[in-house]
Amino acid sequence: MNVTVIGTGYVGLVTGACLAHFGLDVTCADLDAGKIQKLRQGLIPIYEPGLEEVVSRNVQAGRLRFTEDVAAAIPDAEVVFLAVGTPPLPDGSADMRYVFGAVQTISEGHRRYQVIVTKSTVPVGTGAKIEALMAERHPRDSFSVVSNPEFLREGSAVADFMRPERIVVGCDDPKALEIMRRLYKPQTDQSIQMLTTNRVTAELIKYASNAFLAVKISFINEVSRLCEEVGADVMDVARGMGMDSRIGPRFLHPGPGYGGSCFPKDTRALLDVARARKVGLRVVDAAVAANEDQIQRALNKIQKAFGIIAGARVALLGLAFKSDTDDIRESPAMKIAGALLDAGAVVRAFDPAAAENAAAVLPALAFAKDPYDAAAGSDGVVVATEWNEFKRLDLQRLKASLKTPLIVDLRNLYDPREIREAGFTYVSVGRP
Ligand code: NAD
Repeated sequence: MNVTVIGTGYVGLVTGACLAHFGLDVTCADLDAGKIQKLRQGLIPIYEPGLEEVVSRNVQAGRLRFTEDVAAAIPDAEVVFLAVGTPPLPDGSADMRYVFGAVQTISEGHRRYQVIVTKSTVPVGTGAKIEALMAERHPRDSFSVVSNPEFLREGSAVADFMRPERIVVGCDDPKALEIMRRLYKPQTDQSIQMLTTNRVTAELIKYASNAFLAVKISFINEVSRLCEEVGADVMDVARGMGMDSRIGPRFLHPGPGYGGSCFPKDTRALLDVARARKVGLRVVDAAVAANEDQIQRALNKIQKAFGIIAGARVALLGLAFKSDTDDIRESPAMKIAGALLDAGAVVRAFDPAAAENAAAVLPALAFAKDPYDAAAGSDGVVVATEWNEFKRLDLQRLKASLKTPLIVDLRNLYDPREIREAGFTYVSVGRP
């Protein structure tokens, strides 16, 4: 089966490489010629564990190729995936120009029956709009538009794509559904469940899932605030809640608020969709507001711990929005870095993967080669991303590097007793 994936970012590249791994003939197309050039040289433009190997193996096997000529990749494809970005506009709605731009290209190159599959996260009703756009130039029976939202997580994207917890296919056309079943047969043969729904339902499943996870995070973040007031330990509260199988332990980790390229934008876009239909989503609304408060609370914690920020030397551990990625979009760590710089602090940061992306956005940041180098001569450490390698620092070495033994741990990575016994002043989230 010939497949074209339009958009070769975190989702498109993983989708293309993994579909090739499952034996399909895949062309990954992107307008960003620099990205395509890198990929042709065997370089992976993003940090994603395990991706390089899948890409190189499938390129060598002749099943995966890259092109910046998006139009040329359309005519022969039986299935075209849309995996372009849908970033937020200032009013919170999704910016659909990349999706509709790509649909325009598909429409121009359309020659044979084709399934157009939306993998990008798009507002409810987008499938119908794509269908209408295609129908302006082509008979309705010459294409089908399917919603196949993606649930992969950056940092474990390859494994998530190969063995997802579910595959959601929203499709109103039996012929297209048959093709989607063939496409995902390697996964469904391994007992991975495929949920088939109508198209608009699939579109909503994605937004509803991300909004629910955002609610869970905001919920535990709010509970952490109460813990600080009453002297409870939020980690134990979360553990106790999570033992209830109706609740489950995941996404109950307090921190500086959720970030990344999905939760902030998808919650706001869902609210925008609901607003347009005059439906109130008060729970989601509150989760968004609580998240905005949480980053402010993180900044207040830092301010209180450091005293005066102007002139303070801060060692910042982590810049990515979470561990195991170089993605800094809507990263709480980046917001903290920016606010500290604005307030006149000198910030020396270390992140195992995201330094290059961060430097492009915040050129005033200084970069260290490891956590100890970041701490050298600093007035304290702020831990902003939960990288595993930050969990096992040599505390005595860290203390020796610092001017003041202070750790503000916004990810609750450490055991408070151990850190205090090592002679640090320790501030964390929702713990006595
Ligand atoms: P990204 O920014 O990493 O990649 C998007 C790519 O699309 C870019 O390389 C861009 O150059 C390219 N592009 C834009 N317009 C194009 C066009 N007309 N033709 C060809 N290429 C074009 O974005 P991403 O993180 O991969 O996200 C893509 C979509 O998937 C978004 O809707 C996002 O919400 C959704 N999603 C992302 C994740 C994630 O973890 N990143 C997870 C699930 C779903």
